[in-house]
Amino acid sequence: MDPRLRQAVAGAHLALEQRVQNYLAQRGLEVSCHRGCFACCYAWVVVGLAEAEYLREWLAEHSPEQLAHCEAEGARRLKRIAREKHRPGFATAYFLEANPCPLLTPDGGCFGHAHRPLACRGVLTNLPPRYCAPGAVLALEGPEKATYQNQLNPWHGPEHYLKKPWQLSLRTAQRLWATEQHLRGFTVVGELASLVYLLGQGAFQRALASGKEDVYKELSRRRLLEGDFGFWVG
Ligand code: SF4
Ligand code: SF4
Repeated sequence: MDPRLRQAVAGAHLALEQRVQNYLAQRGLEVSCHRGCFACCYAWVVVGLAEAEYLREWLAEHSPEQLAHCEAEGARRLKRIAREKHRPGFATAYFLEANPCPLLTPDGGCFGHAHRPLACRGVLTNLPPRYCAPGAVLALEGPEKATYQNQLNPWHGPEHYLKKPWQLSLRTAQRLWATEQHLRGFTVVGELASLVYLLGQGAFQRALASGKEDVYKELSRRRLLEGDFGFWVG
């Protein structure tokens, strides 16, 4: 990985952590998130190429077995992207299926916690973790639903997640993509495990070395571009 990109990713992670901590301190908010709490890790996580490289590099060095597990899941997810990238509401439907992230550990931790993407760092809540389970909020009725709704404040959304950390995460990711565009000439944005898998594929590596146009062609050949849930090259 280009050391400048590695530094940019590490810097973006640190900057987001500091901004989120400042926000929480200013508001006096205490999050419910803790190790072993992992319902949010069923989500469809979208990252830029540099963050996927950063995580892949760390996995390759620290646990080839975990990398192989992540790649196997990535290959499965690529097939779903090719088939379902145009399906309305795909990300929500995927979350409801409760497919675990391949980096989840048996005790509910994140195997690559220190290297986890911005998208994961921006998902936080100060409300009870039981609301994070796939389908939990949709299933609420009567008094339970009223209790849930009464706890929501203007700083929540969507649902019971904290709005500002998510917005900060998105803005930080966009700045990182812009840095990557400047340093590499382009970036690719797509689902985490799929990108980790692709980075190990010879055809994708050759396309990356060749440049944006060949990356576009390779992703197009694999039917991964376009649709709300397909890859984006920019
Ligand atoms: S967002 Fe929800 S599931 Fe994820 S760590 Fe926080 S409380 Fe737990
Ligand atoms: S990378 Fe880590 S924090 Fe992010 S979804 Fe996977 S297990 Fe959860």
